Formats: sequence, C-alpha cells, structure tokens
Amino acid sequence: MRITHWIGGKAWTGIAQRSGDVYDPATGQVTGQVDFATAPDVDEAVTAAREAFSRWRNASLTQRANVMFAVRELLNARKSELAEIITAEHGKVLSDAAGEIQRALEAVEFACGIPHLLKGGFSENASTKVDVYSIRQPLGVVGVISPFNFPAMVPLWFLPNAIACGNTVVLKPSEKDPSASNFLAQLFAEAGLPDGVLNVVHGDREAVDRILEHPDVKAISFVGSTPIARHVYETGTRHGKRVQALGGAKNHMVVLPDADLDLAADAAVSAGFGSAGERCMAISVVVAVDPVGDELVGKISERIAGLRVGDGRRPSCEMGPLVTGAHRDKVLSYLDAGRSAGAKLVVDGRSHSIDGDDAGFWLGPTLFDHVGEDMSIYTDEIFGPVLSVVRVSSYDAAVELVNANRYGNGTAIFTNDGGAARRYQNEIEIGMVGVNVAIPVPVSYYSFGGWKDSLFGDSHAYGPHGVHFFTRGKVVTSRWLDPSHGGVNLGFPLNS
Ligand code: NAD
Repeated sequence: MRITHWIGGKAWTGIAQRSGDVYDPATGQVTGQVDFATAPDVDEAVTAAREAFSRWRNASLTQRANVMFAVRELLNARKSELAEIITAEHGKVLSDAAGEIQRALEAVEFACGIPHLLKGGFSENASTKVDVYSIRQPLGVVGVISPFNFPAMVPLWFLPNAIACGNTVVLKPSEKDPSASNFLAQLFAEAGLPDGVLNVVHGDREAVDRILEHPDVKAISFVGSTPIARHVYETGTRHGKRVQALGGAKNHMVVLPDADLDLAADAAVSAGFGSAGERCMAISVVVAVDPVGDELVGKISERIAGLRVGDGRRPSCEMGPLVTGAHRDKVLSYLDAGRSAGAKLVVDGRSHSIDGDDAGFWLGPTLFDHVGEDMSIYTDEIFGPVLSVVRVSSYDAAVELVNANRYGNGTAIFTNDGGAARRYQNEIEIGMVGVNVAIPVPVSYYSFGGWKDSLFGDSHAYGPHGVHFFTRGKVVTSRWLDPSHGGVNLGFPLNS
C-alpha cells in the first residue's frame, strides 16, 4: 500500500523521490510505503494552505463550528475503523486505540464552542464617547508536527482549535504510523472543511525543516522527543515563528507509606505498561517512600505476571508490541544496561509469554528495583515497558528527586493524606500532577503541557492555551465622529 500526501483536498499525484517502510508491529511485516516530502512538496502544501486561508479566515463562526460538530459526528461513527488503522501501524491494543480517539473527541468538542471562545472584550466609553474592544484573529498557515505514539490524538490536540480559530494547517505526522492522519484529513473534508484548509505532508527531517523555515508558516505546534523539540523550537523561533514544542518525559509516581498499596500497584502497572510504555504520560519511575518498597515491588510483580501481551487485535491482549524493531532493540539494550549498573532486574520482559506472531516487535513488561539516579535506566527516557523503582527515605527526598529531574511532564502522588497531597501539588516542579491519578492528562477545557525539558515555549496544548496560541490579539479604539470632538491637540491622548 502506498501512503501519500493530502494537499488541496485530494491525494497527491506526484512521484516521491524518497519513501519509508511502514510496519505492522505485531507481525513485523512491511505493510506499506509512505512518501517522504521534499522541500518543494512541502511548499506545494503551504501554497494550498495559504490560498485557502484568504477565504477560511472570513468563514463565519457558525460555519467553523458546524464543521467541528460534523467532525465529531463522523469521528464517533467511524471510530472503530480509525482504531483498527492505529493498531495496525502503532501496535497498541484496540481498546487503547479507542481510548485515544475518545480523548481526541474531547478536543473536537471543545472547539465546537469556538463562537464563545473567540469572544473579545468591549469597554463602552473608555474615554467619553470612545469605545475600546479586543478581538483575536487567526495567524495564517500553521504547522503541526506529531509523534508516532498517538497518531490520532496528538494531531487532534491541535487541528480543531487551529482550524476553528480560522487558520489553515500543514500537518506532518510521524512516518512510522502515517495512515491515521490521512484518515483524519478525509474525515474533515467529509465534514465540509474547504479544500486546502487541512493538508498532510509525510516525511522526515527534510519535510520538518522546510516547514520550520518556510516564510508563510506562522506558527508551529510540535510534539515529540526532547532533542527534536529543542531543535524545532530553536529553528522555528529563529525564523520568526510562534512555537510550542512539547518534548519527552520521565514521569514519577510517588507512593507514601499511608497509601493503599494494592491501588498503588494497580495504578503503577496500568500507567507503566499501557501502550507498552509508549506514552508521554506513562509512569516510568515509582518512588517508594520507606518502608513500602518490598511490599510494593511484590505487588507490582504479581500483577505483571498476569498481563496478557500480544497482538492488539486479539481481544484478550492488554499490551501490544513496540512500534518498530529498532525501537524494541533500543529498549532491550536498557535491560542489560540497568543490570550492569547494579539495579535489580525483578521481572525480565524477555521471558513473558506472547500471544502473537514470533516476528513481531515484542518485549514483555520489565521491572527494575533499587534503581540509582545516575543509572541510564533512570536518566534516559526509555519509552518502553520498563518500570524502575527508586527507594527514598522520606517525602522530602521524593520531592527532591522529582524536582531534580530534567523532565517535568507529569507526576502522581499516591497517599490518603490530604495535607501531603496538597503540599506535593504546591512544591512539585511538574506541569501536570495527579493525586491518586497515575496519568493526569487534563480534560480538553484545561490545557496540556509539561515544564522544564518537557516543553519549549510558553503555551501548552489544546484548551484555552490552544485558542490563545492559534490567534493574535488586536485592540480597537473607536470614536464615531461628533462635532464635540473638534479641535487640534498635540498632547498624548488622555482618557476623560
Ligand atoms: P520524535 O521526536 O522522534 O519524532 C517526532 C516528530 O519529529 C516526527 O514527526 C518525526 O518525523 C520528526 N522528526 C524526527 N527526527 C527529526 C529530526 N531530526 N528533525 C526534524 N524532525 C524530526 O518522537 P517519536 O519517537 O515519534 O515520539 C516519541 C516521543 O514523543 C517521546 O519522547 C515522547 O515522550 C514524546 N511525546 C511527548 C508528548 C508530550 O505531550 N510532551 C506527547 C507524546 C509524545
């Protein structure tokens, strides 16, 4: 199967100079080839978006909201089809793919309220018979660059707000699982979105760098790993663009001695191994505050033994394969690295039984205990089913550990002590905090974003920040002429 760009409301008909393989991670087989855009191909998409902008920026709020309502209906009606596309290229189990779509729908629903969200302020008689009001206007063509791990949800964190605010978009999804984006582009078209408002170009660094440098692209929303997020932020801002670049993570779950350890173990296993640990909000470090370590590690190990790993299309499977063979091998290398650094390999994912094709990109859930802060299994974002337990002596030591980490995406505290939880949410230097909630992804009417090396820029994704990011403010001071306004006055305008 050939997977190509979507430009100006239709599939691209050019001939690609380069392409990449797309795999079914559960079988290890190549299932398609995705075209990689060159700079001129990206230019073609930006031109289509720029031409569409002159009309779309003037589309009524009603028309824009109606498109979002229609997208919502279509996405709801066709979510199982999209979930199958996600599972076939990403590998996550079908129920998880459905969950991703459900969260994406929330972002569409938020944008259905665009007439309300774009209301400005109005001050009558700011000065005598002078009115002042604020409006927010779209930016123009915006670029969205997304990672492999949420091929539908992450694009949909941005597309609804960007489009509902009156912008036009060039989306560059991950080359590892590109089909979901094409599905979405066709769905928006079916929902009545005019041609050229949403374009998809596939590819790698060459396409991204052209988007970052193109003078007609006014803003970039990026989600991916920290080194690339930094590159995108620095290059995009150097080219005069507004950029929000969300990066990687190392999310800690602190378990205090008063916590219910069964619930904490359930949460650690769910948040550590869901989607094979390939979530930016996955828990990768459990911080066991003395004396809970031994009991908690025991309970986590018991639960891991019962996890069913295999082909995500089989209804009994709870965890699928890793996205590519290369990524699986990289994650595997941490098992040896952790052991040679002195951590205790409590559960070795290589021996987990697999309900799937032998050639799939498998690695079962893995648990390390007694992990040290200087070990690579602690310092690196592994992005796989590898959970580390770090033991600390006190609440204060836990906070110090989490705050010293370079990442600041998400964190959770498990406790029954309201005072401790309140202190934690106040003291912790992390953008999203869960209190007895292991994966605290904000609902769509808040915004999503980390601190420190997990986000470059000052706007978080979706919700109110999204509307702000995709618009720029203008303030109008207006006086309708009246004979009382006559007379020359060179003084600075004063309010009276
Ligand atoms: P990635 O950084 O490899 O790729 C992200 C995007 O950048 C893709 O579209 C890719 O084609 C492009 N890209 C890759 N290398 C590039 C280069 N050298 N120059 C320009 N563009 C390049 O990330 P990934 O492996 O697809 O996704 C996993 C990462 O994303 C993890 O680090 C995860 O934590 C992070 N992530 C973060 C969030 C968040 O909200 N903070 C959400 C999801 C994923």
